Amino acid sequence: MSAIAWMIGAVLGVVLLVLAVRGHVQLLRLIRWAQAPLGEPVPEAGGLWGEAFLALHRRARAAAESRRQLQQELDRLEALTQALPEGVVILGAGQVIEWLNGQAARDLGLDAGRDIGAPIINLMREPEFIRHLETPQHGVPLLLRARRNPGRTLQIVSAPFGADRMLLLTRDITQLEKLETMRRDFVANVSHELKTPLTVVAGFIEMLKDGIGPAAGEAAIPAEDAAHYLALAFDQAGRMQRLIDDLLTLSALETGAPPPPQERVDMRALLAEVREEIAALSAGQHDIRLEEDGPAWLSGGGAELRSACGNLASNAVRYTPAGGSIVLAWRTLPGGDAEFAVTDSGLGIESQHILRLTERFYRVDRGRSRESGGTGLGLAIVKHVLERHQARLVIESQAGRGSTFRAVFPAARVAD
Ligand code: ADP
Repeated sequence: MSAIAWMIGAVLGVVLLVLAVRGHVQLLRLIRWAQAPLGEPVPEAGGLWGEAFLALHRRARAAAESRRQLQQELDRLEALTQALPEGVVILGAGQVIEWLNGQAARDLGLDAGRDIGAPIINLMREPEFIRHLETPQHGVPLLLRARRNPGRTLQIVSAPFGADRMLLLTRDITQLEKLETMRRDFVANVSHELKTPLTVVAGFIEMLKDGIGPAAGEAAIPAEDAAHYLALAFDQAGRMQRLIDDLLTLSALETGAPPPPQERVDMRALLAEVREEIAALSAGQHDIRLEEDGPAWLSGGGAELRSACGNLASNAVRYTPAGGSIVLAWRTLPGGDAEFAVTDSGLGIESQHILRLTERFYRVDRGRSRESGGTGLGLAIVKHVLERHQARLVIESQAGRGSTFRAVFPAARVAD
């Protein structure tokens, strides 16, 4: 072989070696890049390797962008489920908690950080809950008082999804349950309140019916007795009438009612009327005084204010034995608020009752309330009227010593 051919062969060999070494180096860079964490910039190079790296770089950028979008979607989904007012728990195989939102953690008394990965029945041992998971009746809610969240009632609905997954939805229905109990109690109370006078009225009617056309051998009812029975029946009818009037007033005032009209209420005229009304009720048995140096006008609903003040004042008469005294006071307080205060020297109220007096049908002494024509709704009406006027009711009382009921109106309600 000639020297030229040797030289060409040697040069070619060197070139191939250089290319092979460079190729190897670029390959090592590529492997190192592929092994690096995601996001590592693609190496740079010239020539074909450069183009290959550039193509990889574009793909890596596109992949990073779609990862970013996916993460954004996931974050949005996470924020949405965290914002749900209901609890959501995802259970995997073996009823292991895979995921839960904040509301579910609060409802079930679980810890979103610590309890993920644990079988839920290791944490919630209530037999009815375990039964519900083991023999799920999907869509049929379970009512649960969870030990980990005492005092609350939960509604839990389960739904299977995927191969062996289950979705639990939890809802705190404590408030709803309370409302339902209140509604039931209310209906029971109203029925009871109406039943007693109705029974009495029906009894008298029955008696009079038999007395007017007595069967052979039976005596007719003497006219005097008949008049007495009729008067008693009339009283009972009045009691039912008052109860229905109060119920209607209360329901008109309750939630959903439009705010009271903004009338300029003439407080002097209103107080004079209230005074006259309770003087008639007392029939001279009490010493009644009216002290007024409060503002002349109050802004609000005249009829409602009249009813609230009238209720407080007539209670004073009804719960003060004959010979007692009653003071109605209308005054401006130092900060500019105005106060209607009724002070009596009557029976007074033991402290444990005071907070409950404005509940519908709450009475300290049922017999005394009935005897004096009470419906048990007066202070509930007062409370609603005052709330609607941003006013508050303050009750101070001592058993055996008398009471003061104060309705305090904010300065903003004082009209010029
Ligand atoms: P009632 O129709 O029974 O009077 P209210 O709602 O007006 O209903 O009052 C609730 C209860 O508050 C009354 O039954 C009574 O026990 C008590 N009460 C109200 N006002 C007075 C008062 N001035 N003195 C003593 N007890 C009062």
